[in-house]
Amino acid sequence: TSWAGLRLQKRFQRSCEEMGWEKPTPVQSQTIPSIADKRDVWIEAPTGSGKTAAFALPILQNLASNEMDEFLESRSRRFVSVLVLSPTRELTIQTKDVMTKIHEASNMGQTERGKTELSIRAVYGGVSINPQLTSLQSGSDVLVATPGRLLDVVKNNGCDLSSVRFLVLDEADKMLSPGFVDEVEKVISLIPAGCQKAVFSATFPFKVRPKVHKMLREGYVKVG
Ligand code: AMP
Repeated sequence: TSWAGLRLQKRFQRSCEEMGWEKPTPVQSQTIPSIADKRDVWIEAPTGSGKTAAFALPILQNLASNEMDEFLESRSRRFVSVLVLSPTRELTIQTKDVMTKIHEASNMGQTERGKTELSIRAVYGGVSINPQLTSLQSGSDVLVATPGRLLDVVKNNGCDLSSVRFLVLDEADKMLSPGFVDEVEKVISLIPAGCQKAVFSATFPFKVRPKVHKMLREGYVKVG
């Protein structure tokens, strides 16, 4: 398959070119159309399979296409539209950087009017919370977060998760195991129950499978 075959708009095909990605990886081919169609997905894929772009491309395309008005409104209210939960500070920063690069490349060659402006933010522990709170004041189209710091941010009224319409759970094997699962479940209790979700992991240990199944809406697509 080609990027065009996945119904990626020209501007996002161009992003892929800019990133040096000639054609989709198998995980991307299987995941992108389902997310673009607003379906939930369960993806079993190792690191290095291109999983970040597999969710970033359709999410950014959905955000940029038809829903801008709502987003502009969200921004004034500390709302979060897309939430990506990830287990470590390193992965959080890396995911935010990839999403930012794809987004910026999608604006290249566009007229001023054709450009989209998305706020893509990250919060994670181990650093002072105050600059993070400030960065969220005008709302986030995409927020990449570690669960513990995110809960601290919520406690400080730094963001409002009631407007989340898409959740990504990255490295679900870690996120749903003891030590993390309580925080993750707390976060999930703060977002709308019926929101679209994508759950990624290299492995899904026997114990976490029922939790994933319960989290996803009926008719979810399984990849890998
Ligand atoms: P990930 O699985 O998201 O950690 O991605 C692993 C690496 O694959 C990253 O360095 C990406 O830049 C790269 N990558 C992602 N998609 C593609 C693609 N379609 N073709 C070639 N490389 C890719």
